[in-house]
Amino acid sequence: MYISTRGNAPELSFDDVVLTGLARDGGLYVPKTWPRLSLEEISSLKGLSYPQLAARVMAPFVAGSISEDELAKLAAKAYANFDHPDIAPLVRLNDDEYVLELFHGPTLAFKDYALQFLGHLFDHILKKRGEKITIAGATSGDTGSAAIEACRDRDAIEIFILHPQGKVSEVQRRQMTTVLSDNVHNIALQGTFDDCQNTVKALFDDTEFRDNVHLSAVNSINWARILAQVVYYFWAALQVGAPDKKVSFAVPTGNFGNVFAGFAASKMGLPVEQLIIGSNANDVLIRFIESGKMELHDVVHTISPSMDIGISSNFERLLFELSGRDGKKVSAIMADFAKTKSYAVDDEFMQNLKQLFSGARFDDVATKKIIGDVYAENKMLLDPHSAIGLGAARANRNNSGAPVIVLATAHPAKFPDAVMQAANQHPELPPHLADLLSRPERSEILQNSVSVVKEYIEQTLQKRGKS
Ligand SMILES: *Cc1c(COP(=O)(O)O)cnc(C)c1O
Repeated sequence: MYISTRGNAPELSFDDVVLTGLARDGGLYVPKTWPRLSLEEISSLKGLSYPQLAARVMAPFVAGSISEDELAKLAAKAYANFDHPDIAPLVRLNDDEYVLELFHGPTLAFKDYALQFLGHLFDHILKKRGEKITIAGATSGDTGSAAIEACRDRDAIEIFILHPQGKVSEVQRRQMTTVLSDNVHNIALQGTFDDCQNTVKALFDDTEFRDNVHLSAVNSINWARILAQVVYYFWAALQVGAPDKKVSFAVPTGNFGNVFAGFAASKMGLPVEQLIIGSNANDVLIRFIESGKMELHDVVHTISPSMDIGISSNFERLLFELSGRDGKKVSAIMADFAKTKSYAVDDEFMQNLKQLFSGARFDDVATKKIIGDVYAENKMLLDPHSAIGLGAARANRNNSGAPVIVLATAHPAKFPDAVMQAANQHPELPPHLADLLSRPERSEILQNSVSVVKEYIEQTLQKRGKS
């Protein structure tokens, strides 16, 4: 069963959590208890294929909703069209630094690892129940295309993705707008990413609309996304000596979803030495680690746009875990934050946090230097997000001797301009996307207005015979 971080929403089964997304008290769902694997059980996972491992790691979280057999089938389907036999290959940089390539899915970012699974999961649950859903999501780039690719051509799903018009890269935009499936609806909103996110939030806050269209979420507030990401922490750690040895991870971080999955892996018993956060100039998390204060700041545009985020929504899950799983307390903190745009935590919280977490920030100049250096040293091209991960690993690794695994979250060809400037190399798109720049596009330009977007969704559902 799952409970809300704010302690005032119904306990839900896994199925319901997947379809619900945000809890009705505004909180995020987390497992009521963390399943824990013994070191022997973790050792027994060595040598499994990625989909087999995925089924084993996720099984305790879905028990009662999905049988092990069904889960194994879903995992097999989810990773069937990745372009590397290892799904998530681990590349050795030197004796104690590794890069985990999480860009071998259809849209070339780590988000495919969770969203490809979530697409099949939605399908499975909706078929079982004979229901249909409408998905609404906001994207600054990578989430949108990964969600669209996961949900395209599925009868039981209509998907609406809002992106800020003119403010995503051409590759990112085309990865969304060239999907011409009838159930896919791209909205180019005349506003910023925050406007997109606020619009989606307003749709969820409109309970009547939410219930009428069976609204669901694909952003990382959805527990299933975190769950599917726990898998590759086990996958990578097992290859460098876990569970007999401790392992550290460095994670380029925006909404705190990916790195929270690393925390979840440690809660399950994986021996994790450090979780190192990499940030760009939008450094709220680093400031928090330094000061114990969370403060909202204006977002600046960087060459790592998927981390251009003013507030990390998944941090609420960590807040819950590290403050004694006290929903009332989290609820009070978040209410305070909504009013004053800041909150502070006590010393005990910070001590708990620092047992695992540390972080470092890199502006665009520093990020490009890392890309250039790694290319010179290893002939490896990193995208700007992954480069920040590596930079953070090098800045913050402790002297425990634990190897560090850097999560490479996007393919360099998603950000060709930055990579060109940094390493004077042009990263090629993989074959399945080679003609992306000449494919026809479809999207709807809409005014930055909640009622306009709502009306568009309602009319589209009507036209599609889905309301
Ligand atoms: C989404 C994204 C991130 C940030 O991940 P979070 O789970 O939001 O912390 C980092 N890098 C890339 C390439 C992304 O697409």
